[in-house]
Amino acid sequence: MAVTRTSAAPPLPAHPDPELDATLGGGLPQELSYALGGPFHLLLPDRFDANLAAFSEVLSEAGVEGRVYYAKKANKAAVWMDRCALSGAGVDVAAAGELQDALGHGVRGENVVVTGPAKAEGLLRVAVLQGCLIAVDALDELEHVIALARTTARPARVLLRRLPPAQPHSRFGLDDGQLESALARCAEAGEAVVMEGFSFHLSGYDTEQRAQSAGELVDLCLKARVRGLRADRISIGGGFAVDYTDAGHWARFLREQRPEQYHAGKSFAPADFYPYHSPVAGAGALRAVLEAHDLAGRLRTAGVRLLLEPGRALLDRAGCTVFRVQGVKDRPSGYGIVTVDGSSLSLSEQWFNSEYLPDPVLLPARPDGGAEPYAACVGGATCLESDMLTWRKVLLPARPAPGDLLVYPNTAGYQMDSNESPFHELPLPPKVVVDTDGGGTRWRLDRHPLA
Ligand SMILES: *Cc1c(COP(=O)(O)O)cnc(C)c1O
Repeated sequence: MAVTRTSAAPPLPAHPDPELDATLGGGLPQELSYALGGPFHLLLPDRFDANLAAFSEVLSEAGVEGRVYYAKKANKAAVWMDRCALSGAGVDVAAAGELQDALGHGVRGENVVVTGPAKAEGLLRVAVLQGCLIAVDALDELEHVIALARTTARPARVLLRRLPPAQPHSRFGLDDGQLESALARCAEAGEAVVMEGFSFHLSGYDTEQRAQSAGELVDLCLKARVRGLRADRISIGGGFAVDYTDAGHWARFLREQRPEQYHAGKSFAPADFYPYHSPVAGAGALRAVLEAHDLAGRLRTAGVRLLLEPGRALLDRAGCTVFRVQGVKDRPSGYGIVTVDGSSLSLSEQWFNSEYLPDPVLLPARPDGGAEPYAACVGGATCLESDMLTWRKVLLPARPAPGDLLVYPNTAGYQMDSNESPFHELPLPPKVVVDTDGGGTRWRLDRHPLA
């Protein structure tokens, strides 16, 4: 069937990753797909370690004391907890299960920050008992924490989370009046509370806005100290951008993509797409935050430590997701519908009215030299029209065949499991860890099913 290149969306390849290509090139994905009998996620913990080290390096280069807390919601795998525990990195949790998992893997309570709104009793109790740092989100929550500190006879370590003036519609944090009351309450609570500082978490990826807000928190610390409170650290949350693709491809995609290039004429608001290209990203974004308004200097002068909670940025290039092609259907209008052996719930952009844009890569079971390019969208093996992994028509190098694999690159940050569901009783895709210590490459399951 003739497929016109023009019917496909402009290409958006992920940055080349020769090391990962070498890992995928030796038949490992085909072997795992056969063994596991369904889609799976590959995890590359060395990349996580390297990303973590890059953030710490930026802090020490700038002469700023601080700590990196991995925002656990970005990916549930156990291996990240092991890595944080071993390297002494912190973990940011927002639910009792996340806290249990972190502690269970050896992350020390003192290295955990607890965020999230209206935290449940069980979460707060364990957090106080384990000496975690609690980012207080509301005045009633502060009362709850003080009461728990008194019943457990353990001082509660708290940060006061500020409602960002730049994002007044956020549902998180305390406004200026509430902060004032919270500070008075902390001072009055005496030994029940150690008020260690302030926090915020901003939507978006603006480094300038983060530096500005961080500077304001430094001033708040200085004021809080006048009341006899410790106030010697601030947390600037997460939101360090990930750079998935190069500037040229991204600009062309935004310029040329249109509804005809999507299955069923679907359209997404460009503003809802993740910014897949960012000239300043990851640890580089932290460097930019520290340089703006001389934040680094202000932190040093004020003796304020900088805490940060990156999720996505620590997982950059630390994993990918592999589906098997189950069927291919040609549409007379010049494209195909590829159905894979899983669902779009393993590629979570639904909450953002969006789709994951880095192009999937076809690994043909039988490479065919003379093949014609083929435009296709990608659907899940479910009975819902809306279960599409990729609505847009991606130009694949050849018409896929059942048994071929389709690899979605760089999915560890939020794509793998935040929206996962065993819909249709499809099993959740297992996570396979690729270990490279000791020279060779070996794989294992992230969580053993019998453990
Ligand atoms: C989600 C979240 C993060 C992590 O955000 P990323 O964009 O993944 O870096 C950090 N802190 C808080 C409070 C969050 O809610």
